[in-house]
Amino acid sequence: MNKALSKLLVVGTLGVLAAGALAIGRPVPQRAAGELLAVSAPPAPVSSVRTDTIHSGEPLLAVLQRHGLEHDEANRAIADMSLIDARRVRAGTQVTALVHPDSGVQNVTFQLAIDRIVRLVRNGESWMEVEETLPWTRDTVAVAGVINSTLTGAIVESAVQFPTSARTELAYAIANVLEYRVDLSRDLRVGDSITALVERETAPNGLVRTGKVLATRSKIAGSAIDAVRFDDEDGESQFYDAEGRSLRAGFLRAPLEFRRISSVFGSRKHPVLKTWRKHNGIDYAASTGTPVRAIGDGTVIYAGWKGGYGKTVEIRHKNGMVTRYGHLNSISVRNGARVKISNTIGKVGMTGLATGPHLHFETLINGVHRDPRAALKDVSGEPIRVADRDAFQLRRNALFADLTARVYAMQDDAANVAIPGMGIGPRARTRAVGAGN
Ligand SMILES: [Zn+2]
Repeated sequence: MNKALSKLLVVGTLGVLAAGALAIGRPVPQRAAGELLAVSAPPAPVSSVRTDTIHSGEPLLAVLQRHGLEHDEANRAIADMSLIDARRVRAGTQVTALVHPDSGVQNVTFQLAIDRIVRLVRNGESWMEVEETLPWTRDTVAVAGVINSTLTGAIVESAVQFPTSARTELAYAIANVLEYRVDLSRDLRVGDSITALVERETAPNGLVRTGKVLATRSKIAGSAIDAVRFDDEDGESQFYDAEGRSLRAGFLRAPLEFRRISSVFGSRKHPVLKTWRKHNGIDYAASTGTPVRAIGDGTVIYAGWKGGYGKTVEIRHKNGMVTRYGHLNSISVRNGARVKISNTIGKVGMTGLATGPHLHFETLINGVHRDPRAALKDVSGEPIRVADRDAFQLRRNALFADLTARVYAMQDDAANVAIPGMGIGPRARTRAVGAGN
């Protein structure tokens, strides 16, 4: 090795050590620095890193001063900031300052979210803001649950790949996929099964959250319901059944979002009149103020007080179907107004003959009461575009093959009972595999 090369190597080593020290905030080991001194320029003084969190009620000015900025300097920095609202910095936000022994604070980093930091960087007399988004990593997992009472209960119990805190969200995400086909607050039966292929996202700090639902395969009240997410050429994502019909149909199966419903009652003793009466609708218990949705496109034909129903909205849809929403706390549509599916038409309340907040919901066809379950049964969505059909079939086959394989692997692993069975035994296995093609 010649002399010039060995000198280069030594300088190179110094560079690496200094960078390492910057990153971890510790000074370069004294001995190493001394040895290197003999063959190269004096080492630059080493910056230090200091991390803590914003105290409750602490003004940003004080935070910056505490991290080494002069009063005027901190004021200037705050004036230059646009990504951080000085009046809204949250207590507990992590703040890290990089301080140089000679030139003072070099930068101050605010960890605003798990995946977002904003860094104030000294730029001569002024300060510059740099925003960084930290990458989440993503993988795909399968979940399989059996209904003992509710969808949420089944997912919370079985989606062990997710932290408990994320499982309820996952149940809601699955409910959103199925809400055109099933009223998950009342159609589920004990023993029904739900499986889903879901993206799992992991933050830089290890926190896990649910990503997109890619496919679900369910058996609900005796019917198989498949759903496949497919992005068309315009980047629009939609769910389709296995035959390629959009899950999005003309009607929602429930006038409240699944996550808002606390319970459902059918025919029962009237809570106020205390007599058994034929109850011509469904009562959804939900807290006062919960938005009520039009279950389909239509025209408002009644909006106002209606005897025991209290504040009531009635909507006429195509094919002579009328939907009625009673006991509302407030009404947000006028008589004669056109409404679209999912539009909010009012809020849950307890006006009229009601002892607690709930929504009374009815469907009438040509003036005759019909069970909404029957009235809304035969609705299926548009078929996928012909141009997308081949791509859809490939995607569907791949997703269902993946889901099926993962669910079987889970069951094989679970000779114990860590993962609840899906009601899919060897007999059903043949059917499930066949259905994927
Ligand atoms: Zn009712």
